[in-house]
Amino acid sequence: MKRGYRRTDAVILNSMDYGESDRIITFYTRDYGKLKGIAKGARRSKKRFVGNLEPASRVRLVFFQTGKSELVRVEAIALQEGYSLLKNDIERYGRACYVLELTNELTLEGMKNAEFFDTLSCFLRLPGDGGGGFGREMLRFFEIKALALSGYLPHLEGCVACKAGPGQRALFFSSEKGGVICGKCAAFLKNIIPLSAGAAGFLSMAARLEVEKLKRLMPGPIVLDECERILADFIRYQLGKELKSKKFMEKMGASRIEWQFP
Ligand SMILES: [Zn+2]
Repeated sequence: MKRGYRRTDAVILNSMDYGESDRIITFYTRDYGKLKGIAKGARRSKKRFVGNLEPASRVRLVFFQTGKSELVRVEAIALQEGYSLLKNDIERYGRACYVLELTNELTLEGMKNAEFFDTLSCFLRLPGDGGGGFGREMLRFFEIKALALSGYLPHLEGCVACKAGPGQRALFFSSEKGGVICGKCAAFLKNIIPLSAGAAGFLSMAARLEVEKLKRLMPGPIVLDECERILADFIRYQLGKELKSKKFMEKMGASRIEWQFP
C-alpha cells in the first residue's frame, strides 16, 4: 500500500494499551483486509477516539499509511455500530470475542476480502435482528463460513482420500486429511471422528448458503454436537492451538446454550 491517507469501514478485532498513552488496534477492514494500527495518544484524546476503540465495534476509520512501519497510524475513528446487545450480556460477548479471535487467526494482514468483512458484520448484528441471541448454531455457521472465506474449507462431499462420491453409509472426518473420509479409508487412518450423513450435509450446505439464508437451516442438537466437535478439531489442527476466547467460552458454558431463531 502506498504512503497516504485512507478511509474505510472496519470492525475492531482487538485493542491493547501501548506505552503511556497509545493503543495498538487490530481492525478487519472492508477495503484492506486485516490491518494493525497505532492510535497515538488514544487514552488522552477523548475527542478523536471517544471510547470507540472497544473490540466488536464497527467504525469508520481514517488512517495514514506511513510505508515505514507494519503499523498504520490511526487518525480518526467514528463509531458506526457499537453492537450494544452483544456487549451487555457476558455470554454473548464471550461468543463475539471468539468470532473476532477466529477472524484474526484465519486472516492475513493486507489481504482484501470484502465478503469476509460483510459476513463478520452480519454476524455481529444478529442479536439486534429481533432474536436477541447469538447461540450455538450461529457459532457453527460462523466457523464454517469463516473457513470457507479464508480458503480453509474442509472437503465435505465424498471421501477426501479415495474421492468416492457421497452416499456412503459410514462416514468419518479427518482433520489431518482435511475432510470427510469413507468407511473403507477410515480403516487405515488414525484420529478420525465419526460423522453422520446429516452433519456432513449440514456442514456442506452451511458453507454454501448466504448468511441471510442460514436462518432456514435448523440443525437438531445431535447434529450440532457433531459439528461442534468436528469444527473444533479441524480449527485446532489448522491453527495449531486452542483459542483463548474458546477456553473462556467453555468455562462460561456459553457454547452450550440453545438459541432459536424467532
Ligand atoms: Zn475413501
